Amino acid sequence: MNTPASKPERPSPPHELADGVRRGNRRALAKAITLVESTRPDDLPLALALLEELHPETGGSLRIGLSGAPGVGKSTLVEALGLHVVGCGRRPAVLAIDPSSTVSGGSVLGDKTRMELLVRTEAAFIRPSPSAGAQGGVTARTPEAIEVCEAAGFDVVIVETVGVGQAEAEVAGMTDAFVLLEPPFAGDGLQAIKRGSIELADIIAYAKADLDPIAAAAACAHMNDALSLLRPASSAWRPRAMTVSAFTGQGVAEMWSELQHFQEALAAAGALAARRQRQSVKRMWRLIDARLRSRLLGDSAMQQQLAEIEAAVVRGDVTPAMAVSELFVLAGRRAE
Ligand code: GDP
Repeated sequence: MNTPASKPERPSPPHELADGVRRGNRRALAKAITLVESTRPDDLPLALALLEELHPETGGSLRIGLSGAPGVGKSTLVEALGLHVVGCGRRPAVLAIDPSSTVSGGSVLGDKTRMELLVRTEAAFIRPSPSAGAQGGVTARTPEAIEVCEAAGFDVVIVETVGVGQAEAEVAGMTDAFVLLEPPFAGDGLQAIKRGSIELADIIAYAKADLDPIAAAAACAHMNDALSLLRPASSAWRPRAMTVSAFTGQGVAEMWSELQHFQEALAAAGALAARRQRQSVKRMWRLIDARLRSRLLGDSAMQQQLAEIEAAVVRGDVTPAMAVSELFVLAGRRAE
């Protein structure tokens, strides 16, 4: 006998699912995010139809990216910030992307008990997303997941991810405001400057400031000095550093008002719309790259050619540039 859990679910037609999302139904929202995150080719038409239908209701949130090293205090801060935001009458959705799932095969974030209070808050929504198999980086489908949350009425979307590899740049490239969380004893922030992540940040926050408030304040002051020498990415906003403690709550309200100032300053200068436009165009090109790649890999004859050309590159018989050129000639002939 089939238990409800083992019953195969028929995919809901997009308009039904879209209705559920618009009504803020959590099951529909979770299903819709699963659909837009799916890498199964037969899910793509449904996902596209759903996104088309929801499109008029999207774009209305403040999109916040939050990144930092493992253990720096991201999820604890996101919970504190999320609860504060709820207290201000807003509705936050949190998309927690877990790059470790690519290695472990399961979502570590999903297994961990995180954000216990926020999870139980009616006005909030938390979604841990494994990034396993996501083509083209840890956050390949997150822009679509953000839109689904917006259509469901969430007016603040926080994308939280571990700052490894390209993840920081990816998250900064799909959000309005990027918050970089630094450890409390980060000294002069040299590590972050070396990694290049400071250039991405709109707000830099020294976490766990309760551990050593003096050290955190000193790190913050050093960083503000360093920031005054960097050219800001937008003339409408000079990035700044602050200290925060999710445990005592110090700096949490300030972070939220800083984020709102940021939004107002950029919106007034027209820079927020310009940022989103640039992001959309970049996203289009990224999807073109992904489609071209999967088209090449999806053709069995091309797969054979690819394997042979790759072997020739390994042997050094052909340069990578020439290999690509030959491949496109072959792909062009097959398309004729
Ligand atoms: P994440 O891996 O960056 O998401 O970090 P977590 O939020 O899971 O926090 C890592 C550890 O730091 C946990 O043991 C937290 O309890 C602790 N922690 C988080 N925020 C604070 C804070 O504001 N002050 C102090 N003292 N500890 C904190």
